[in-house]
Amino acid sequence: MKIGFIGLGNMGGPMAANLSAAGHDVTGFDVAGVTVEGTAQAETAAKAAAGADVVITMLPNGAILRSVADEIIPAMQPGAVLLDCSTVDVDSARAVAAQAEAAGLGALDAPVSGGVGGATAGTLTFMVGGSDDAFAKAKPLFDIMGQKAVHCGPSGNGQAAKICNNMILGVTMIATCEAFALADKLGLDRQAMFDVVSTSSGYSWSMNAYCPAPGIGPKSPADNGYQPGFAADLMLKDLRLSQQAATSADADTPMGQAAMELYQRFVEDEDGSGKDFSAMLPRFEARTRS
Ligand code: NAD
Repeated sequence: MKIGFIGLGNMGGPMAANLSAAGHDVTGFDVAGVTVEGTAQAETAAKAAAGADVVITMLPNGAILRSVADEIIPAMQPGAVLLDCSTVDVDSARAVAAQAEAAGLGALDAPVSGGVGGATAGTLTFMVGGSDDAFAKAKPLFDIMGQKAVHCGPSGNGQAAKICNNMILGVTMIATCEAFALADKLGLDRQAMFDVVSTSSGYSWSMNAYCPAPGIGPKSPADNGYQPGFAADLMLKDLRLSQQAATSADADTPMGQAAMELYQRFVEDEDGSGKDFSAMLPRFEARTRS
């Protein structure tokens, strides 16, 4: 396939490289002038999009996606698919899809989980919103860039799945960290705590697969000085998107709201920026109740 790829950052760069290595004809564009081995570089986003069967975007936020979409949609050939893999707000995802479909294009929102490691290894999970036709057309590309693509329904539903998942993740990571800090103060050994909780009703991905306590459970960023992994800053971004969506849909999400406020304090007022999101554990450890 002829592919345009816009946004060649930490995630987009290795995703574009994998598509090119699999034999696709990839033309990339990034405002920062980044180049990716095996891909051609265009001078503008519109030039990268012109004549492509699929145009992939991997951009920082919804405002940038909307401005890039304004530029590339008129340049795309009829019947082509605009495949946005960025994590953005549900409203922007739906607005861009409507704009693309009105111009005779297919549109998919397909945010990912798996991080930079998954992007490099081609093992991302895609959560996809959009039509059956567009999903079928993009499926071979999902198979190269990832190990799983779940079609979640119409446009915006990929973003909805992503922010609901990450709202659960943020809340359970905080709960896991505060429980470890309480256990410490109660004199309960961390290994014993893990052995009980990981096989009892408190188990979760945060405890079992990504344990925030160093030296306990499978290897995780806690064993590497809380280097991300999944940065607290990115968790804050996703929690903000979940609260923006909750406001827009008039949904009551008190735990998601509390998690967003705590990560905001951690990242903006404390020392959480640049650390893994599981570094909430040393934060709680250092605190008292007041
Ligand atoms: P990044 O900042 O490394 O990359 C974004 C790229 O977009 C940059 O290279 C930037 O120069 C480029 N860009 C910005 N404006 C542009 C424009 N107008 N035209 C063309 N290029 C433009 O970010 P990333 O880590 O690659 O993340 C990309 C998206 O993936 C984000 O939405 C993020 O939330 C999501 N995501 C990231 C991770 C992760 O672990 N990094 C995991 C899951 C999802």
